[in-house]
Amino acid sequence: EEMKGEASMNKNPRQVPGYHYSRVDPTAVKDPHLLAWSADLANYLGLARPPERGAAVDMLAGNRVAETMKPFAARYGGHQFGNWAGQLGDGRAMSLGELTAIDGSVWEIQLKGAGPTPYSRRADGRAVLRSSLREFLCSEAMHYLGVPTTRALSLVGTGDEVVRDMFYNGNARPEPGAIVARVAPTFVRFGNFQILLATGETENLRALADYVIRHQFPELGEPSPEVYVRWFEEICRRTAVMIAHWQSVGFVHGVMNTDNMSILGLTIDYGPYGWLEPYDLGWTPNTTDFGGRRYAFGQQPNVALWNLMQLGQALSPLLPDIKLLNPALQVYADTLATTRHDMMLRKLGLTSLVPEDDKALFTALEQALAESEIDMTVFFRRLSHTGPALLLDQGNEDTKLRELLQTAAYSMAPDEEQDLLEWLHRYMQRLRQEKATPEAIRESMLRANPKYVLRNYLAQQAIEAAETGDLSLLNRLMEVLKTPFAEQPEHEDLAAKRPEWAREKPGSATLSCSS
Ligand code: AMP
Ligand code: MG
Ligand code: MG
Repeated sequence: EEMKGEASMNKNPRQVPGYHYSRVDPTAVKDPHLLAWSADLANYLGLARPPERGAAVDMLAGNRVAETMKPFAARYGGHQFGNWAGQLGDGRAMSLGELTAIDGSVWEIQLKGAGPTPYSRRADGRAVLRSSLREFLCSEAMHYLGVPTTRALSLVGTGDEVVRDMFYNGNARPEPGAIVARVAPTFVRFGNFQILLATGETENLRALADYVIRHQFPELGEPSPEVYVRWFEEICRRTAVMIAHWQSVGFVHGVMNTDNMSILGLTIDYGPYGWLEPYDLGWTPNTTDFGGRRYAFGQQPNVALWNLMQLGQALSPLLPDIKLLNPALQVYADTLATTRHDMMLRKLGLTSLVPEDDKALFTALEQALAESEIDMTVFFRRLSHTGPALLLDQGNEDTKLRELLQTAAYSMAPDEEQDLLEWLHRYMQRLRQEKATPEAIRESMLRANPKYVLRNYLAQQAIEAAETGDLSLLNRLMEVLKTPFAEQPEHEDLAAKRPEWAREKPGSATLSCSS
């Protein structure tokens, strides 16, 4: 209510100057049916699992709007692949309203794929099962990994078919439609501020900043130029923590446009994301990004900084001097460096006894991993067992370390194996300096190195099964990914490195932006 909303309910695509959002109605679908439900999130929000069909699922599909809901689509802009793209906005997302969780916190609920809005441009406002399932599964998996993220409550099939002209399987084909209900304290992005700079709407810019500060950052106090600076610093800090998490688990977002950057530092807009299999700084899952690899794994820290600089630009009309924001950018760099360092210490079971030496140790590991094709997740998980075990029994250290590498490697030339082995022996010397017991070290490493991540080919298998009506892998992944740090021996197959057949299979390896 504090924001300026356009009330016309007109869904024709258009520019919407002067407003923060537009009131919209979802467009009904043919046969809404529940495909997946996030029970933990629902319990937290005080919601019970609804039956497969009925009034509640109709609401989650946009077929029914409660009297208390005033659905809206937000207006935002953004830089796409480094270029200013003008007004974008919620072209297929719309917020229904807010829910109060059992702890009193307030959460916005948003449907993705519920039909056109003024921001749909030339597109249909719909989402396909493939992309919706990917968003649903991954946002919940990220949450359980401890990565800051938006959440997903439900996945609803629409009974409608949606056609995407895309690279998926080589040609366009009708696909089943689906809608995700996603949940976050707010879905405001960097781009919501950028559009107001672009159109010179300084009073709306101030209103949005004040709204976000009052509702999402109340600890900063009443908005003022000084508070805007501290707020920007906090956004920098949170973004750094998010990026450190991504780098630590091998998550590649794939489309880090400024409209896909949450003002809360949450992972948002799961599109052509992917998980690192071989540790490769140049890898991106996004086929639309192959030319520049702007959003490749190793680029994410720099791109986030670039995006923060664009946000800083957008906020500059609220400040006497944009230079006041420079220290915050340094906070980004410092927070990223210290958080990544701390996370790497934990992944390796180390405490900060000799910080200087460890920096070199970490760099050497990155280099050795990048040289050969080593599965990142398997490598660190195996190390969590093997490293502490070798503290207890030094016998056959070389053999055991070779075994570890064989298990984690997709391919490894003899000299690459030698480099990795040398690093592992060096690491073992360092680990022996630790004071904790081998059991305690193992326990803490197992809590830092997930066994289960949403491997690209697993998501693809779950999609292909779900498209034929078989939800068993989706359900199984949902359960397993809830405790990604637990051993779960009955699900060993889901922890293995990517099978050879999935190496180049579309969907299993790469995706396009238009998912
Ligand atoms: P994304 O690449 O998903 O972050 O989307 C970029 C922009 O395109 C956003 O403004 C989206 O709302 C819009 N968009 C993406 N897909 C669709 C669609 N199927 N219908 C309408 N708008 C879309
Ligand atoms: Mg987006
Ligand atoms: Mg490599």
